[in-house]
Amino acid sequence: MKQSGTIDILGIAAHPDDVELSCAGTMLMAKRAGKKTGILDLTRGELSTRGTPELRAKETEEASKILQLDERENLGLADGHIEVTHENMVKLIRHIRHLRPIIMLTPHKNERHPDHEAASELAHQAAFYAGLAKIETTDDNGKKQEPHRPLLVMHFMQTYTFEPKVIIDISDVFEERMKAMNAYDSQFGRGASGRKLESKELDTFLTQKGFYEWIEARARHFGMIIGAEFGEPFWTQEAIGTKDIFSLVTKSIA
Ligand SMILES: [Zn+2]
Repeated sequence: MKQSGTIDILGIAAHPDDVELSCAGTMLMAKRAGKKTGILDLTRGELSTRGTPELRAKETEEASKILQLDERENLGLADGHIEVTHENMVKLIRHIRHLRPIIMLTPHKNERHPDHEAASELAHQAAFYAGLAKIETTDDNGKKQEPHRPLLVMHFMQTYTFEPKVIIDISDVFEERMKAMNAYDSQFGRGASGRKLESKELDTFLTQKGFYEWIEARARHFGMIIGAEFGEPFWTQEAIGTKDIFSLVTKSIA
């Protein structure tokens, strides 16, 4: 754990590239608003059909630069075997108490990949338990950590769709968001242009024809229904509140 201080918004995901695929535009918008942003990947994605963990780590570094993250770490849990155990919970609680995020972005509970569902449950529980003073943890120097509970947990959309509670307008950062995704050449088999590259490796869900277009179409779809060019959808268990009713309006009155 680096001593990087607090983070305003923390994305937690099962695999390096999950945040880039799902909610990198929201991270970029937060950065533009002057907030501190971070990502915690729970595994190194070592079970991926394509690439190697070493190559994936390099791609993650490149994507993190594009996203201008203040913080990115990997918890080193086993890919394909994320379990909601006390041991894993404590690891996550320590990280949440260290970074003290105001908002956490996590996978949705219903997902195609079992690791995404497990990451959702683990993050959901850790966000709550991190706020309980009687669950004691220490930092890397053995110092007792203060309890901390994020004020809002928002769930991002991966494979399966859901009815969003809120959609973030990411039109201003869409190109950078796609660049961050395309940094994972080993996973998507595409260059920065989005054009499919020649590769002898096996095709996967992510390299199939139309995948890139699907990601773009989804962003266009959710953007369109809030009057924006591109949007990222989120589901929350809690109701969303605001003191400023006009903050709920994203369309400009031309
Ligand atoms: Zn994943």
